[in-house]
Amino acid sequence: MKNAFSIPRPVPEGPWRWLVPVLLVLLFLLVLMWLPWQARQMESNERQEQLIADTLWVEQTLRFELARSEEALATLGNDLAVSSPPHDALQARLAQMLKTGHEVLRVVWFDADGKVRAMRGMELPAAGLTESSREAAAMSRTTRTGRYSDPYGATGLMHGLVDFHLPLYHGRTYVGSLVATYNLQILLDENVPWWFAQDNALSLLDRDDRVVARRAAGGPGRGVYTHKRALDLPGASIVLATDSVKGAPRLLPNLLVGSVIVLALGLVLSLAALWRHIARTVAAENALRQQMAFRTAMENSLLTGLRARDLEGRVTYVNPAFCRMVGLPAEELIGKRPPMPYWAPEAMADYEYRLRKVLEGDAVPQFETVFQRPDGERVPVLVFEAPLVDSHGRHTGWMSSMLDITDRKHAEELARQQQEKLEASARLATMGEISSMLAHELNQPLAAISSYTAGALNVLARADEGTGAPLDTGMLRRALEQANTQARRAGQIIRSVHEFVKKREPRRERVSIPQVIDGIRALVELQARQSYVTLQFAVPAGLPPVLADRLLLEQVLLNLTRNGIEAMQGSDPEGRLLRISAAAADGHVSVSVSDHGHGIAPEVAERLFSPFFSTKAEGMGMGLSICRTAIEFHGGTLTHADNPGGGTVFTFTLQQAQAEHAALG
Ligand code: ADP
Repeated sequence: MKNAFSIPRPVPEGPWRWLVPVLLVLLFLLVLMWLPWQARQMESNERQEQLIADTLWVEQTLRFELARSEEALATLGNDLAVSSPPHDALQARLAQMLKTGHEVLRVVWFDADGKVRAMRGMELPAAGLTESSREAAAMSRTTRTGRYSDPYGATGLMHGLVDFHLPLYHGRTYVGSLVATYNLQILLDENVPWWFAQDNALSLLDRDDRVVARRAAGGPGRGVYTHKRALDLPGASIVLATDSVKGAPRLLPNLLVGSVIVLALGLVLSLAALWRHIARTVAAENALRQQMAFRTAMENSLLTGLRARDLEGRVTYVNPAFCRMVGLPAEELIGKRPPMPYWAPEAMADYEYRLRKVLEGDAVPQFETVFQRPDGERVPVLVFEAPLVDSHGRHTGWMSSMLDITDRKHAEELARQQQEKLEASARLATMGEISSMLAHELNQPLAAISSYTAGALNVLARADEGTGAPLDTGMLRRALEQANTQARRAGQIIRSVHEFVKKREPRRERVSIPQVIDGIRALVELQARQSYVTLQFAVPAGLPPVLADRLLLEQVLLNLTRNGIEAMQGSDPEGRLLRISAAAADGHVSVSVSDHGHGIAPEVAERLFSPFFSTKAEGMGMGLSICRTAIEFHGGTLTHADNPGGGTVFTFTLQQAQAEHAALG
């Protein structure tokens, strides 16, 4: 069975479906995060490298300045070693030295014995040279090269002083030495350009990492970018340390970083939204698919045929049960317009009438009809029609559900036949009961006939004997008439019994209630006389006819009257009155049979109409059950009530024939 709707199978589910995009996005985010970090790192490296280069450059500058000073001292020393210049010239040259290098605080010329021969600049301390300076002097003599002392302090100068000892030789003879004292602070101040000092805090450190000179025009360094470089002075260990005032490059103010973070966040959010959306779609699809599967299973398992039609009556959907019902495949039905292939010729007028109603937008909600299979077999069905409304509330067609009522019809037919058989046997039972009475009753007319005919024969015999008496024709006629009447009555009794017992199909016709009552009168009178019951009839002649099976009505009446008569068997003979009355009202005709018998106890009333329920020793218990079925078969009702004067009233009501005709029309 093909379905009108189908949803493509989803991509097979699995964690890997999300894994690849998620990994890619994570990777992308990682790269995005890494890029600014990397940029920062590069910037940082660049600054560090710059600092190292600058430090090297400063070191070179300082070294160069000291070297220049050493050279000038060496030139002077050479001159002094060869010959001692005049005092003034010597002083001028020493002064020159102090002038060209501001960092030179003092120049002293010691002779070979260590006595001062000439001096310019800052006074020598009273204690003479410092310990480290004296060591440097000794070393310079041993190595015969210039040596620096370790930095030392002086009043107000921290440790910013170093001495340079240059030994002087004449040939191979030591002739003294020149000692220049440098102020390292001035060395820094004079030789480091201001822009470098602005960006970096510079310091000179001694062997014990003590700061011996410092320059920090731009404030203290941050300790982020630092570099140390030994000044590489012979004999002294002085290190140049630079510390940039710049901090580490900051990450966030960077526009690039900001936008990368915003973009990444946006990406993550939109990815999450997309994810949620897809998850919802997948969930909805799954739910829909489940519903579809459920619906299909339900439709396929249904025994009820389903058929959908559009507003023009074109078939848009059929389920398997419907196809089985009409014996045609779905392909031959879907898209078909009336006349349909399963329409049976005999019901064409019905189909067309209902199609007209459908086209008018007013389908018949429920009806019974018959379909024809391709092999000609007829299927009786019960159809329910309901409007099809789409999700916008628009009426788009009709949905019909059909029940195959073949079995029900069979069952009904069987029940009807059963009922008929029951009725026939009930009739026979009734007959058995009354046949004895019948024999007894027929005796009466037969005896009467016999005596009337005997009388008539007597009259004739007397005339024949020739007594001369004239033939009494009046008497003869009366006797024969009486005989005739009695014979007819006997005939009627026999005919009505015969009619009653005959089994036949129910036949509906316009029936007059007074005639029906007349028809059973003889039999009822027979029973009544037997039981000493007085009969009373109140049946207006002008009652409207009803549509009914005459014999069924007669049987009902006979049952009711017989029950009434039997109920009175124990009561006073004077009070044994059975009344049969009829009346018309509101398009109905009702017939009542009232007795003054023992009445009906509540526990009896409960089961009164049940088949085979009887309180009588000889009773079959079928009478009332058959009566009610027969009356309901005619669309009427059978009820009972207490008779106000004692006893019971049974009443059945039927529709008037004209009224019923109008209803059918
Ligand atoms: P049956 O007459 O064979 O018993 P019915 O179906 O005709 O079967 O009646 C069932 C029972 O209903 C009777 O046995 C009787 O007890 C009760 N019944 C029927 N008609 C009357 C009546 N007119 N008055 C009192 N009881 C009645």
